[in-house]
Amino acid sequence: MSPSIGLPPPDPETCLVGSRVSRFKGGTLIDEDVQDLAAHERRLSDPDGYRPRRCARCGHDVLHVHCYPARHPRGELGMPAVVRIVQYVCAAVECGATWRILPRFLARHLWRAWKTVERVVMPAGMPRSAAAPPIPERTEQRWRTRMAAAARILVVLLAASGGVALEAIASRVGLDARRTDLTEAYADATHAAPGVRLAALAEQVHRLERGLRLM
Ligand SMILES: [Zn+2]
Repeated sequence: MSPSIGLPPPDPETCLVGSRVSRFKGGTLIDEDVQDLAAHERRLSDPDGYRPRRCARCGHDVLHVHCYPARHPRGELGMPAVVRIVQYVCAAVECGATWRILPRFLARHLWRAWKTVERVVMPAGMPRSAAAPPIPERTEQRWRTRMAAAARILVVLLAASGGVALEAIASRVGLDARRTDLTEAYADATHAAPGVRLAALAEQVHRLERGLRLM
């Protein structure tokens, strides 16, 4: 992929720049400690395994297991066809917010493991698995387009975060960075290894502003 010299990168799709914080009652929380399927299944087997201590909307300290929605992370070897996640509901009657908890290795919205996506959009350093199921060309193209789009809103988010290290990354890449540039710079600064580079930035973005998406 060669960026056009002298031109800023194209704007990202609107789904990548809208925050959901105020529009939705509840949402997705990412558990950054859960890095693989075995750890996820251990947590899932215990109703308390993923239970948030407080509701992220109202602060109430009782949340019940609501349901176990299914995710279908296609195209990653060693990943089953169905991965269940857990959704909790806030017990405060005036709130009732629901929270889906996603383990770190699953990409929100993309129906894939982050590793699968990273192999396509940032192949450098990633082991190629000949046995990994193929990904449709259109899907690969969509992912590449997203990573080539402007990272401006994410750069501003990091710059305004109040964290010295995050501000340094933002000023290093600048406002005209593409999402792929920002991901590389973030991986550099945080020593995120190939395989977790996308996941690392995606969860940082989500932590700063829930709903905002890397891709
Ligand atoms: Zn609540």
